[in-house]
Amino acid sequence: MNNFTDQVTNRLKAMFPDRDTIALHEPCFNDLEKQFVKDCIDSTFVSSIGKYVDKFEQMLSEFTGAKYVIAVMNGTAALHIALKMAGVGPGDEVLVPALCFVATPNTVTYLGAIPHFVDSDYNSLGLDPNKLLDYLSDIGNLKSDGLYNCYTGNRIRAIVPVHTFGHSVNMNLLCEVCDRFNIVIIEDAAEALGSFYQGTHVGTIGKAGTLSFNGNKIITTGGGGAILTNDESIGKWAKHITTTAKIPHQYIYSHDQTGYNYRMPNINAALGCAQMERLASFIENKRKLAKRYALAFKDMQGVHFFTEPVYSKSNYWLNTLIFDRETLHHQQDILEETNTNGIMTRPVWKLMTSLPMYKECPHMNLNTAHTLEKQIINIPSSSFL
Ligand SMILES: *Cc1c(COP(=O)(O)O)cnc(C)c1O
Repeated sequence: MNNFTDQVTNRLKAMFPDRDTIALHEPCFNDLEKQFVKDCIDSTFVSSIGKYVDKFEQMLSEFTGAKYVIAVMNGTAALHIALKMAGVGPGDEVLVPALCFVATPNTVTYLGAIPHFVDSDYNSLGLDPNKLLDYLSDIGNLKSDGLYNCYTGNRIRAIVPVHTFGHSVNMNLLCEVCDRFNIVIIEDAAEALGSFYQGTHVGTIGKAGTLSFNGNKIITTGGGGAILTNDESIGKWAKHITTTAKIPHQYIYSHDQTGYNYRMPNINAALGCAQMERLASFIENKRKLAKRYALAFKDMQGVHFFTEPVYSKSNYWLNTLIFDRETLHHQQDILEETNTNGIMTRPVWKLMTSLPMYKECPHMNLNTAHTLEKQIINIPSSSFL
């Protein structure tokens, strides 16, 4: 072990003097969760109908400002439906960051469309709208009905900005680019409940946005997700299609299109309602933890703690250290050393273009994403730390 690896490990250890092991991100429950889940079981309405689903959607709507919220089984299902609502279909291309979680491009392929990978931005860790503008000016052919890729001939229908680790993409810039090229924005805000772009909750700026409530996210419903939108027709259609497209009737089963059984069960929503009551305190704690990390690494050479972009107020879902180009070769050592010392740390995802199913997909120059992949480690981030 060398001096630099030692220093990073020791500074992390010194943050949590009274803990032997520290997980990356653990959920936080108390009596309220038990009370709501028990009430839900006692009511027998544990499945796809019940008061908790409606209440959970209403709480999310109030918190995010989205007019329509549709709670579903997970964030992946939410993204699948949101992209379908955007009109994505077979042969379309959808722009997705190369540095992101695999669920995002997976949902593009569920619809028979092709992920087209774009580069990252050092300021947000999300996609880079400036680089996108140059790239689309170069490869795009703007016709009256939309943008086409000059090389493949496919329509570039939509883009999925991912608000990475809870940090917002520069949405004003992105909206300008997408207006100009007639591309629909579907925001993947899976990691960003409680994050705001210039005062507006992320996930409510594009045509639609999605959230995840998986066990490792800022709040959890066990498994869960939601679609956010201000568009009435999308909101209504999304609810209809995620509930098997059943035409409401007291006793007749009739369905007017191929639907999905994606609705969030009531028992999961009961957990979610309790978690929503505590969201504000989770965000406050996570922002305090981020401040402590920033201070702990302030005077250290070779590495810095990633802080929110100036335009954003982030939930700091997963805290992030970024190594300088000169020290990034220590990434593996540091992962090894911290994990054997009870401090759970993780590298960022592998670039999507390195996975076998996405190797052949179109992509722009991915210089920043390639560097960031080697520079990032995520450090413990639970809201009770
Ligand atoms: C967690 C996550 C998802 C998927 O959410 P699930 O609820 O696990 O299906 C999608 N995109 C991103 C960026 C995520 O972090």
